[in-house]
Amino acid sequence: ELGLINGRFVDMNEKVVTMEDRGHQFGDGVYEVTKVYNGKCFALRPHLDRLYQSLRAIRIPATYTFEELVQFHEALIKESGITEGAIYLQITRGAAPRVHPFPEQVVPCLTMSIRSSGPVKQELRDNGVKIILIPDERWLRCDIKSLNLLSNVLGKQQAKEAGCYEAVMVREGSVTEGTSSNFFVVKDGVIWTHPATNLILKGITRTILLERLAKELDLTILEKAFDVSFVKGASEAFLSGTSTEIMPVNSIDGKLVNDGVVGPITRKLQAAYTQLIDEECGW
Ligand code: PMP
Repeated sequence: ELGLINGRFVDMNEKVVTMEDRGHQFGDGVYEVTKVYNGKCFALRPHLDRLYQSLRAIRIPATYTFEELVQFHEALIKESGITEGAIYLQITRGAAPRVHPFPEQVVPCLTMSIRSSGPVKQELRDNGVKIILIPDERWLRCDIKSLNLLSNVLGKQQAKEAGCYEAVMVREGSVTEGTSSNFFVVKDGVIWTHPATNLILKGITRTILLERLAKELDLTILEKAFDVSFVKGASEAFLSGTSTEIMPVNSIDGKLVNDGVVGPITRKLQAAYTQLIDEECGW
């Protein structure tokens, strides 16, 4: 575990963040998580592109270049010696006496950290996970990867207490996404997922799935909203995310999907995703 604050290495236990950082007090900031495989960042460019989009959306000025951020990622990997793990990055609007409007003179604060993590548990990858459906109580800008994760935290905790891996949210009858993942179902051989509107985060893994894996495998993906009864009639279901990768779902609200057997489309996408990581990060 190693940290980086505004480009300076720090021990993770060092107390460095200011009391009145707006990230603390307002959740006034954005973040990204990138996976490290074999000592290399996977899909770093799209993650950084999305970071700049999030910054623009909440009007935090970009104070680091793309190249600097790439260097910081590489430096964290090198300095920590971690080859399998994840890098967390957040940028807050900065520190200033607590008032709601943007302070006049405030400098954004970048904090980053690296932590090692093993591969996704084989048992889960192979047999899938259970999920519950819960009401989506978030705001209407879920497309921004902001630090405000209270609904996501409460939802994930609810899933955990129900013995489930993830909670997938439902807004006005439409199934949106998981608390930290995107959600897909398969019906009659077609893959469905919620369109990338303001109601979901446009996941990097989701985009890779749509634009690369499905194309390579000649699978049909439809970005179209669907409801709970549609989900309950699906032959396959799965989640996607940076840490989640592609994760089969075998049970929804206690009801088995396809009698609990992971389906062929999910399997193919999992295999193709693993291969892509291999190609990019090369073991
Ligand atoms: N939706 C939400 C709400 C998330 O927090 C995440 C994880 N960042 C995702 C989807 C998946 O996005 P990605 O594939 O970029 O990790």
